[in-house]
Amino acid sequence: MGARDLLRDFFLSHLGQVLDSDQLREASGGISEWARRVRELRNEEGFQILTHNDRSDLKPGQYVLLTARPEPAFERGISKETRSLVLDRNGFTCQMCGAGAGEPHPVDPTRKTRLHIGHIIDKSMGGTDDPSNLRAVCSVCNEGASNITPDRPSVIKLKAQIRKARSDDQLELLKFLLEKFPDHAATILAKSSSPRT
Ligand SMILES: [Zn+2]
Repeated sequence: MGARDLLRDFFLSHLGQVLDSDQLREASGGISEWARRVRELRNEEGFQILTHNDRSDLKPGQYVLLTARPEPAFERGISKETRSLVLDRNGFTCQMCGAGAGEPHPVDPTRKTRLHIGHIIDKSMGGTDDPSNLRAVCSVCNEGASNITPDRPSVIKLKAQIRKARSDDQLELLKFLLEKFPDHAATILAKSSSPRT
């Protein structure tokens, strides 16, 4: 087991406890670079390990891991501006499964859809943090829990599905599309209400 693994285990088994440098050095197997490994856990793996820079009650050399769940890797280092730009461009909709932000998730309706920012080409494959390489992805897809294929359904399949749906669901869909495309809706309605020759 490497020093980073030892430290990760140590933090995870001491959640919420303030740990000092002596304890961490010992837990790392006594290596001199233990602090660098801690930074890697924080910056590369996303563990929210707090120091005196994050919390005023911590002294220099004290560390605390608050939760076992790391922040999603893609979320780190992306500015608020970029985040809102991407969410807006993607219509606050998961680009993998189509779930809308705040709505019950199609795969697990007990969960409200939470959107994250993901990379289209993964960073490990050379993808950048440029907005053109970013997209909205919900937490369910991010966790790989969604079995919905990323392929977009064809309009033929969609229409077939919609025809089979109940009227109130169809009306719900109409409302969704009218809100999504207000200008197009106005144009279409204007055309259809103009007198026919
Ligand atoms: Zn999704």
